[in-house]
Amino acid sequence: MSSRKFFVGGNFKMNGSRASLSAIIEGLNKADLDSNVEIVIAPPAVYLGFTKEKVRQEIEVAAQNMFDKPSGAYTGEIAADQLKDIGIGWVILGHSERRTILGESDEVESHTKWNFTDIVCSLQDCICFTRRPQRENLDERESDKTLAVVTKQLEAVDKKIHNWENTVIAYEPIWAIGTGKAAVPEQAQEVHSAIRKWLAGKIGQEKANSVRIIYGGSVNAQNCREFASCPDVDGFLVGGASLKPEFHNIVSRTS
Ligand code: PEP
Repeated sequence: MSSRKFFVGGNFKMNGSRASLSAIIEGLNKADLDSNVEIVIAPPAVYLGFTKEKVRQEIEVAAQNMFDKPSGAYTGEIAADQLKDIGIGWVILGHSERRTILGESDEVESHTKWNFTDIVCSLQDCICFTRRPQRENLDERESDKTLAVVTKQLEAVDKKIHNWENTVIAYEPIWAIGTGKAAVPEQAQEVHSAIRKWLAGKIGQEKANSVRIIYGGSVNAQNCREFASCPDVDGFLVGGASLKPEFHNIVSRTS
């Protein structure tokens, strides 16, 4: 049995209004949640304070992004200290939508996000490592490419990470995000186990064993149990389904 606390992140992306978020939050506040599961929800930035105020204390709130400067003329950006100021302890960094739609690169992310040792280390970082778009489903031949891409992304951020144990790593095959086509659990397990092996090479096996590696990509109430049974799948990053009542089933790993 793993000592890693199961982790479920809900990434609302650019969805929601005060009314619809209130309904989601109320549902979570009333739900019979499993205390063995850590839940972190990431509303759009404009609703961070609103969500933090309304949601029950056991559920943490994450920003979907942040900038690496402490303050200044960076229109539209949010600093780590500002997040901390309103009680936000988590941030998603490097989501594939920021890479593919907003043009961030592995290098830019690692460079811009992780320069503030003292600030970033006191936040918990959730980073997403995503596979580049590929034509077909994962197969034996492709798994080499997947591992090469993931390792390249890990190496890029490793230079800036000061505490991997404070970090949750999300593996998200790009083709599985928002498509309804989840990876096969065995293939997610293969990548997660490779990520842990890579981590062990950097920080030692014992520390690597304590880092949560979560899967993201069309997780729903039907497939979550099977993913959760993989030894190196320590939770999920859930997009679309986090806006629906089935999120309650996912956070309790039931269907
Ligand atoms: C995501 O946004 O990280 C994600 C995995 O989305 P979805 O669950 O909708 O595929």
